[in-house]
Amino acid sequence: MKKCLVCEKGALVKVEDIALEISGYVFITKGERCDYCNEEFPYEQETQRTIHIARKIGVWPEPLKLYRHLSKSGGGLVFRIPNDLERQLKLDENMEIVITKIGNKIVIEPQAA
Ligand SMILES: [Zn+2]
Repeated sequence: MKKCLVCEKGALVKVEDIALEISGYVFITKGERCDYCNEEFPYEQETQRTIHIARKIGVWPEPLKLYRHLSKSGGGLVFRIPNDLERQLKLDENMEIVITKIGNKIVIEPQAA
């Protein structure tokens, strides 16, 4: 049984009803969900398939919207970058980011080295 990387308490259970919202369209994908904190981990291939379908029906102009929970660590809130975004944007732990607050949104921009 795989342990959840977010809460480190729950186990990951296979599910087929992870909702990814792209431009107001909801795509259902397969993946794993933590039975403790409910964090969802869509399979990489499923995410790619969803992106492919979204592009095909022309709903890709808007940014991909993913729902994630914040977790608490050392008195602060931690935001985990989804793996597929990490790969798409080629992020790594040495990268500097700029955080901008726009209204009630937070924009995270990786800075080129
Ligand atoms: Zn969890």
